[in-house]
Amino acid sequence: MNNSRIPMPVQAPEERIKNFSEVALGYNEEAAISEAERCMNCKTHPCTAACPVGVRIPEFIACIKEGRFEEAYSVVRADNALPAVCGRVCPQERQCEGSCLRQKAGGPIAIGRLERFVADRHAAQGGTPSKAPASGRKVAVVGSGPAGLACAGELAARGYAVTVFEALHLAGGVLAYGIPEFRLPKRIVNQEIAALEEMGVTFVKNAVIGRSLTVSELRAEGFAAVFLGTGAGLPNFMNIPGENARGVFSANEYLTRINLMKAYEEDAETPVFRAKQVAVVGGGNVAMDAARCARRLGAEVTVVYRRSEEELPARREEVEHAREEGIGFAFLTNPVEVLTREGDVCGLRCVKMQLGAPDASGRRRPTAVAGSEHDRAADCVIMALGTSPNPLIGQTTEGLELRGRGEIFADENGRTSLRGVYAGGDAVTGAATVILAMGAGKRAARAIDEDIRSGIL
Ligand code: FAD
Ligand code: SF4
Repeated sequence: MNNSRIPMPVQAPEERIKNFSEVALGYNEEAAISEAERCMNCKTHPCTAACPVGVRIPEFIACIKEGRFEEAYSVVRADNALPAVCGRVCPQERQCEGSCLRQKAGGPIAIGRLERFVADRHAAQGGTPSKAPASGRKVAVVGSGPAGLACAGELAARGYAVTVFEALHLAGGVLAYGIPEFRLPKRIVNQEIAALEEMGVTFVKNAVIGRSLTVSELRAEGFAAVFLGTGAGLPNFMNIPGENARGVFSANEYLTRINLMKAYEEDAETPVFRAKQVAVVGGGNVAMDAARCARRLGAEVTVVYRRSEEELPARREEVEHAREEGIGFAFLTNPVEVLTREGDVCGLRCVKMQLGAPDASGRRRPTAVAGSEHDRAADCVIMALGTSPNPLIGQTTEGLELRGRGEIFADENGRTSLRGVYAGGDAVTGAATVILAMGAGKRAARAIDEDIRSGIL
C-alpha cells in the first residue's frame, strides 16, 4: 500500500501565469487506483459524514480500486449532481478530507481528485442520463447556479417539466461568471448543463425575474412551484475615501469580464483594465481568483488581508497555487483610503492590524494598531469583500420574508413564507459554497415533490 498521497500533476507556475488553461491536470487511471488503494474503508465512514451531500465515499473509492470506474461514477452521481465541478472546487480540506482517518499517515485520501477523475472519465466515455416518465406538472427554477441546477436535476429525475430562468446570457451562475477557467474549465460546466437539457430541462436566458416576469406571474402561468436560487451577487464595498476612483473594481465585475466575456482574449470585445500593480482586498476564494487573473494579465499582485494567514478563508490549494504564481500577501493589513491622482488610483493607504478576542464568526477580531498608517503603490484595487443577495426578488415578491442583508427566509427544506415558493443556496445563506448550494437545491426539490404529491400545490 502506498503511504503518501499521490500528487496532482499541474501546469508549471512559470507557464500557467501566461495562460488561462486549467492548472490541475487530473489523475490518470494508474494514479487514481494507487490513491484509492490508500483508503482503509473505515467502518465509521467519517468522510461521508463530513460531506454536505453524503456521498458514499468509501464505496466509490472501493470501485476505483478494482477498476470499476463507471460504477464509481454512479455511486458519486447518486448523491452529487455536479461531481466534475465539486471534485475541482469543494473545500475538501474542511469537509471529507478534513475528517479522513489517514490524516497523519501520508495525508488524507485525495477524495476530491478521485471524484473529479471518475466524473471526467465518465464524460469522456459520453455517458447519457436517463429520462423519467413525465409527471404532467411544471416547475420554474430562478437562477442557474449550483442551487438551481441541483434543484432542476432532482426535479427532472422525478418527471417534472422544469424551466430554468437565468438573468445572464449564459447558464451556470458563479460557476460560469465567477470561478476562472484555470480552476474550473467552462466545458465542464457546459457538460453538466447539457446533461440537464438531455433530461428535458429548458433554459431561458436573459430573463430577469422581477423585471421580465414576477414570481407571482410565474405561478399564474401554471408553474406549480417556483424555486429561487438567485445567489448573492451584490458586491460589498469598504466605503472608504477614493473607492470611486478609476481603477477600483469589485471582484465580481472584474471576474465577470474575464470569465463570462473572455476579456483576456486578444480579440475580445469586452474591455479589461490592464494594470501594473494590483492590490486585491480580501482573503476568500474570490480574492484568490481575482489575484490569479490579474497575475495572468501581467500585473504584480498583492493580496491585502486584515487577519493573519491562519484565518484565510480561501481553499488551501488556491493559496498555495497563488503563492507559486508569485502573488504576494500583506497580512494583518487593512486599507483606509484609496489614493488617487486626477481620478485614477495611484496607491492604497493601509493600517496594520492586531488580532483580539474571537468575534461572532469565531475568528479573532482584528483591530487597527495606532500610528501604523503606511502607503502601498497600486494602479488597480480589486475589492473582494463578500457579497449580499440582489434585492430585486425581495422588492418584487409580495409576502416573501427576508432576513439580515436581504437573504430570503427559508426552512431547512427550502420552504419560504409563500406557499409554492422555495429558495436555497447563497440567496438564503449569504455567500457560501457550491456543495452547500447544491444540497439546498436538492432538498428543496424533494420538498416540492412532496408538496405536489400530497396535494398542497
Ligand atoms: P449563484 O452561483 O450565484 O447563481 C445564481 C444565479 O441566479 C446567477 O446565475 C444569477 O445571474 C441568477 N439570478 C440572480 N437573480 C436573478 C433573477 N432575478 N432572475 C433570473 N436569474 C437571476 N465555492 C466553493 O465551494 N468552492 C470554490 O472554490 C468557490 N470559489 C468561488 C469563487 C468566486 C469568484 C465566487 C464568486 C464564489 C466562489 N464560491 C466557491 C462560492 C460558490 O460559487 C457559491 O456559493 C455558489 O455558486 C452559490 O450557488 P447559488 O446557486 O446559490 O448562486
Ligand atoms: Fe477512506 Fe479516509 Fe473515508 Fe477512511 S476516512 S474510508 S481512509 S476516505
